[in-house]
Amino acid sequence: MNALKDVKETLLMGPGPSCVPPAVYAALGLPTIGHLDPRFIAVMNEIKSMLQQVMQTKNEVTLPMSGTGSAGMETCFVNMIEPGDRVLVLINGVFGQRMQDVATRLGAQVDTLEFEWGTPVQVGAVRAKLANNRYRIVAVVHAETSTGVRSPVAEIGALVRSAGALYMVDGVTSLGGIPVTLDAWGVDIFYSGTQKCLSCPPGLAPVSFSPRAVEKLRNRKTKVPNWYLDVSMIINYWQGAKRAYHHTAPINMLYGLHAALDTILQEGLEPVFARHRAAHEQLVAGLEAMGMQMLVAPEYRLPMLNAVKIPAGVDEAAVRSRLLTEHGIEIGAGLGPLAGKIWRFGLMGHTARPENVERVLRSLESVL
Ligand SMILES: *Cc1c(COP(=O)(O)O)cnc(C)c1O
Repeated sequence: MNALKDVKETLLMGPGPSCVPPAVYAALGLPTIGHLDPRFIAVMNEIKSMLQQVMQTKNEVTLPMSGTGSAGMETCFVNMIEPGDRVLVLINGVFGQRMQDVATRLGAQVDTLEFEWGTPVQVGAVRAKLANNRYRIVAVVHAETSTGVRSPVAEIGALVRSAGALYMVDGVTSLGGIPVTLDAWGVDIFYSGTQKCLSCPPGLAPVSFSPRAVEKLRNRKTKVPNWYLDVSMIINYWQGAKRAYHHTAPINMLYGLHAALDTILQEGLEPVFARHRAAHEQLVAGLEAMGMQMLVAPEYRLPMLNAVKIPAGVDEAAVRSRLLTEHGIEIGAGLGPLAGKIWRFGLMGHTARPENVERVLRSLESVL
């Protein structure tokens, strides 16, 4: 009995995980060493500095949490929220809904503004809400993976800053695929994940806290209610001359993240973004040539997550299943109100290459 023997290379074109480049696989297989070994501390320091470059931030508290993107979301809320804090969550898909759920469980007083799935958060609605209410935190998803929509995080950030709230942004899908500039946008609290555009297997959640966010953390009246994700303790492992054990770091996953970040920075952020845009344009042109329609208006489309309407009379699940079993390609289904209505084609990180787009278009044509 060994299910591992059936695992084989798959072209990952869904909403994540994405394809992993050889340099990352090689790093994952390096010898495991101790989590307080000075050679490992050196690896950690380079990861922090590369994360700051990819996120375009000077934030000292920038580090990968142990866990997937959702652990990053939980980390941000659990460290920032004290019971009764007023939080505004902007929702236009699954991950905004998840933020609302997480914040509510922590005893925050949560307000929401909801927007139709497939459309972005509207800046005017946020402005009106902030004019009449005071919040400690305003939270938004930059790249909504459930619909393929990019929201205007820079414009929202300017409003949040002048309203005196802390600004939280979900960059799980955007980081490494489109520009993410935390300091320029005034983002205070940020989280991401490794398996989308960073092209590292799932398992880590890079986060970043601005000095204002760290001040809120330091001034808490109550302990962070989750021991494992308590950033006030974890920074003593990630910062300073002498490091203190909190929990054993996932050593080999961190090697993988190091290699993934290094791969991106070697290519250069601008060329990486341009490669995502080019793959997206090639895919959209191919799908439209086959008579299909995109869900999202061109100006709000994400290059790394392409939602396309399923043509009438097509058994959408059968198409996805045949793509996987006969062509070795995974694509994503619709979620929530979009289930059965769209397919989601991911072009994330290492997946976003012309030969891969060519292959999925040819395979889809043959299956249809
Ligand atoms: C994937 C994703 C998450 C959750 O990440 P997991 O790694 O699945 O825990 C959160 N937000 C967005 C926008 C995502 O795309």
